[in-house]
This record gives sequence, structure tokens and C-alpha cells, in this order.
Amino acid sequence: MGLQRHDEVILLLGAPGAGKGTQARFLSATLGVPMVASGDLLREHRQKGTDLGRAAQEFMDRGDLVPDELVVDMIVHRLDAPDAWAGVLLDGFPRNVTQADALEVRLVERGGAIRVAVYVDVPTDVLIERLAGRWMCRGCQASFHEIFNPPALAGACDTCGGELYQRADDKREVVTNRVAVYLRDTLPVVECYEQRGILRRIDGNQSIAAVKQALRQAVVGVEAALTA
Ligand SMILES: [Zn+2]
Repeated sequence: MGLQRHDEVILLLGAPGAGKGTQARFLSATLGVPMVASGDLLREHRQKGTDLGRAAQEFMDRGDLVPDELVVDMIVHRLDAPDAWAGVLLDGFPRNVTQADALEVRLVERGGAIRVAVYVDVPTDVLIERLAGRWMCRGCQASFHEIFNPPALAGACDTCGGELYQRADDKREVVTNRVAVYLRDTLPVVECYEQRGILRRIDGNQSIAAVKQALRQAVVGVEAALTA
């Protein structure tokens, strides 16, 4: 596949707890473009033992972080796949200004662009409440939530009766820190896209149906342009 007009990327950004997983699947289906997450790309390249995957593995073996440029290379490589002819929905990337700059450089090289960046905005206290209330079943890994999806019997799984526990990641102090780090690193990226006029801010603190409606409206026109 050579360079085509498909080097267009739609970004979906949102803090942990913003409900991005569901929304990414919905947007991907609405737009008819594949959903791409940097973590999945990294895993695939390592499993397949590609050049990029081996390069990433070397950093990981040394206990280093995989450089942003390498991750961006994987994203750009993904744009060459046949199913990406109409672009891709990039889920949760970039997470900081350095990654945003690296992505921008590589897209511009290809004559591509970020078409729209959608930011799912949820108040910090709501994010923490959502994340910190999660409990998992030791037996079947079913997931519950103290407020939004409580088990019928406190501490026990509805499905298998197994014991519910809270993962270390879901404890309140850990969650609070994770959200703070995300907002510190990523809000400058969101502001940058806002200044460039490509940001669509979605109120993520409403029902799933309402969020989907807002997402659909945010990408009106994008869909038409992609398939034109
Ligand atoms: Zn269970």
C-alpha cells in the first residue's frame, strides 16, 4: 500500500474512568474505521517479532520505557493496512505533549493529519468515584461496582457466588493518583487541539445513550468526508 489519502486520524481522549472503551467501539462502528490502541499495537508487534516489535522488546528487556517515536512508528505503520483506507480511530493516544508532537511530525511527513480530536470530559471526583468503586470476582472475574452495578449480596458474585475483591489498581489512593497524572499530562494536549480548532469536547458525565448521541454529533461531517 502506498501513500493514499487515508492518512487521517481521529483521536479519542479521556481520563481513566471516562468510559472510553465503550465509546471507542461505538465511534469506530459509526465511522467505519478500525479502532487502534497503542498498547495493542505494541503487543502485536512483539508477538509477531516484527522489526518494530524487536526494537521495542530491547527497551523493555532493559527495563526502559518504549520510546514515543517507536510507538508512533507502529501507529503510522498501522495506517498502511488495507482496513485503514478510510483512516483510524486512535484510542487513548497521545497521552502527553511529547507523544502529540511525535505523532504530528510523522503524520505531516505523510501528508496526513489529525482530523478531529474528541475529548470525553468527566469531572475528577466522578472519575474517582467510578474507578474506586470497582470490585472483581475471584472465581469468574466478573466486575461489579458499589454504586452503579452492586452485587445482590454484598461481597459475593451474582454469577458464581465467588468472593469479591478490589484490585490494587482500583483502590482509592491509587485511582486518585492515576487520574491526577492523566489530567496533568494530557490536558495540555487537549488545550493544544482546542486552540487548533480540531477539538470536540463531549460531556461524559451523562447516560451512555446521551454520550453516544453527543459522540455521533461530534463526528458529523467527518464520516461523510472519510467516505467521499
Ligand atoms: Zn464470579
